[in-house]
Amino acid sequence: MSSAASEYRLDGIYKQRQSGFFMQRIKLAAGVISSAQARAVSDVAEQYGKNSLHLTSRGSIEIHWLCEHDLVSVKRELAKVGLTSRGACGGAVRGITCDSLGSAASSAIESLSHRLHRHFTGNPRFERLPKKFKIGIETDVAGGRHLIQDAGLVLARQEGGHAWYDIWIAGGLGHAPRPGFLLSEAVPEERIIPIIETILNVYSGNVPPGKRLKHLASEIGEERLRTLIENHPGYNEELPPVTGLPDVVTLTSSASRQVVIPIFAGAITADQFRGIASIAERHAGGVFVISANQDIALLLDPSADHAAMYEELALSGIPSAADGGLTLRVCPGSHECIMGLAPTRDVAERLAAILPEKSHRMVWAISGCPNSCTRPQLADVGIVASRQATGSGGERTPRYDIYRRTEDGFGKTIYEGLDCADLLSVIPGI
Ligand code: SF4
Repeated sequence: MSSAASEYRLDGIYKQRQSGFFMQRIKLAAGVISSAQARAVSDVAEQYGKNSLHLTSRGSIEIHWLCEHDLVSVKRELAKVGLTSRGACGGAVRGITCDSLGSAASSAIESLSHRLHRHFTGNPRFERLPKKFKIGIETDVAGGRHLIQDAGLVLARQEGGHAWYDIWIAGGLGHAPRPGFLLSEAVPEERIIPIIETILNVYSGNVPPGKRLKHLASEIGEERLRTLIENHPGYNEELPPVTGLPDVVTLTSSASRQVVIPIFAGAITADQFRGIASIAERHAGGVFVISANQDIALLLDPSADHAAMYEELALSGIPSAADGGLTLRVCPGSHECIMGLAPTRDVAERLAAILPEKSHRMVWAISGCPNSCTRPQLADVGIVASRQATGSGGERTPRYDIYRRTEDGFGKTIYEGLDCADLLSVIPGI
């Protein structure tokens, strides 16, 4: 196997910060995973990694500390249970995110997630894009997640088994955050795939390598981008309506109840993950969901024995929501990520130790570099390691910016360039 790391990207593999080690990202539609798949992921982490998993804020799973000579075996083990990593990294349509499962409209958005995932994953027409292309589906705009997708779909209405979506495009965070804009309102589901294909064609035909769709919106303006898309031959195409059995894996009857298991910093051991797989099998139809907050959600069978489930969680050593979890999204930072400027998990632990009780009602996020993978600009309080400063002895230490979000749109910067001590001193007062 070639060691050209860039060739690995489309297989969902990045070089890790530590020389000789790789990270394998697994792409899940809407974060949905079966218990059998979760056991296979745990086995891979145990056999080839360091027994640990990172749950991402896009509902994917990362296995770190893999050796290059094991990558083919890892891919084979995951494929045996129907898991794919194709397009989880690099210039491709990434995992379809969705943080609205458990809502009344779960079935519609989960099934659309599966369809988009199947259509774009490994489709050679939409690989080798200039950069990543992110799609998210939500039932409302409250969290602002539609604003940071290359294509953000928001359910507009449902009627007689049909669904219509508003389409927001050209959003993204990173070094130049830009909120997406509304391309089309109340588009029937039959036009969603052709429109996304059209956006992808316009994107790959007009944007230089290394840039996202938001770059084109900034360069030529939203109206010109809208015209390019609307004048494209594929824009008005309509596919036949979807027929057949529901394309839904989770238990989504109106009687099912969602229980969130907080996973601190998205870090979980292979054993704990296996434990949750077993609990999901007994109480949630053998399926669970990795949420956009890096937690795990169980959509419980209406007949589930809740007391037994909480007891099983406690026996697995996993805190339950009943213990009052703190919502704190954390990326791998300089612990493993080659881009990381700060040890994000260490900062998260120190933060959690000093946060007053009232702060647990807010959503927090820490990103180890301006790429902002954990959506700090959409958290109530977001922390970004924005740069490193050089000390008198030549040592490099991170500097942090803090964002505060109190209204729609992106959070605003309230502090810039803090060192760790200053960061920890101002946080309790926010
Ligand atoms: S925010 Fe930066 S450090 Fe964190 S995972 Fe993303 S690229 Fe890596």
